[in-house]
Amino acid sequence: MKLFDTHAHIGLINEDPIEQLILSREAKQSGVEYIISICNNLQDFFTVYENLSTAKNVYHSIGVSPSEVANPGRDWERQIEEGVRLDKVVAIGEIGLDYFRKFGNRDAQVELFIRQLEMADKLDFPVIIHNRDAGNDVLEILREKLPRKGGILHCYSEDWEYARNALELNLYISFAGNVTYRNARNLHETAKNMPLDRILIESESPFMVPSAYRGKRNKPSYLKATADFIVELRDEPEEEVRQALLDNPLRFFGI
Ligand SMILES: [Zn+2]
Repeated sequence: MKLFDTHAHIGLINEDPIEQLILSREAKQSGVEYIISICNNLQDFFTVYENLSTAKNVYHSIGVSPSEVANPGRDWERQIEEGVRLDKVVAIGEIGLDYFRKFGNRDAQVELFIRQLEMADKLDFPVIIHNRDAGNDVLEILREKLPRKGGILHCYSEDWEYARNALELNLYISFAGNVTYRNARNLHETAKNMPLDRILIESESPFMVPSAYRGKRNKPSYLKATADFIVELRDEPEEEVRQALLDNPLRFFGI
């Protein structure tokens, strides 16, 4: 069964254009038929976009992450408007709030997040959302500002109770390699209870390597370990779960 990696920082795994192409090819050989490349900043977006223009399995997301709040780049709004017009750009993100690392002040992060949610609604794109230690604020803002095309809570790190609130907003939830960690009980409970049509998986590479590859630097080709873990957790037949992990992101990103 084909796999869909909804979140990979290809520019962070390797800066070299040839290595990036090799990564995408290696992923395809491991069954990863689709990858959403997530930029680290807008300059990185345009560079990786060009490097991977021949990689058939790579799609792109564009946005200013909370880590860039102090310096989003000159004309960043115009750059996003240009970026979303390019072929195979399918989402705005990652955007959101990160109160764990002190990126600028919270008000500035909130302002940047809301501005991009409004842009996504206007441009008619879905969003990929980053949340670290900011769960309440993220949810409160999304209740008001979630764009029509919807959103993904990526690298899910909250509990099942929080997920139920997110599901009321029709959000998708994406699990990274940390769902495979033995002591991640909140994530196991959530991944088991989630409606099947709302679950996604991602590598979040180069971070969050699945436990089977502990000690290595993560890459999209390791995604199968996360898919296998979710299949084990769920009560449905294996084929049904694998099909959902492919169909859900295809539907969400409109591919
Ligand atoms: Zn990320």
